[in-house]
Amino acid sequence: MKQYYVVLRSVLRSRPHLRRCLNRCRHCRIFFLTHPRNARRRDLRCPFGCREAHRKRRSTERSVAYYTTAEGKAKKKMQNGKRVRGGVRAEVEPPAPAAPEFPAGIVGSVAMVASLIEGRRVSEAEMLPRLLRAMRQHSMARRRRMDYVVAQLQKRGP
Ligand SMILES: [Zn+2]
Repeated sequence: MKQYYVVLRSVLRSRPHLRRCLNRCRHCRIFFLTHPRNARRRDLRCPFGCREAHRKRRSTERSVAYYTTAEGKAKKKMQNGKRVRGGVRAEVEPPAPAAPEFPAGIVGSVAMVASLIEGRRVSEAEMLPRLLRAMRQHSMARRRRMDYVVAQLQKRGP
């Protein structure tokens, strides 16, 4: 979190024109960069989970609301009937996204921010391998630090 703000601050320092893209999550209050067209909005949620959680909650509310209508109730009854008779197979899960380790929407938001920073369009398809590479390097650096700590401990050991 601290690291994130360090990066965000240095981005804004080197690219002051992006300051107007700074927005704040109305849910968790974290600062994040948004697309210039949304810059003035004050009702946004961050791409680090709040946006997705809100989307899911709304979708559940909608479906609950639908199934309490007469039409919805009838449809549900029909679906349940089919299920009991075994006429309907369990819905096939959609294929896993290319990067199951990223929460929904993250790659897209990172690509959007990269587009703002680089001043050109960075697609999700381009961003994904870059993100994966960055994460690999990050974990390698962490492993090197750990190796170093372990080596230091062993030196001092009995
Ligand atoms: Zn948030």
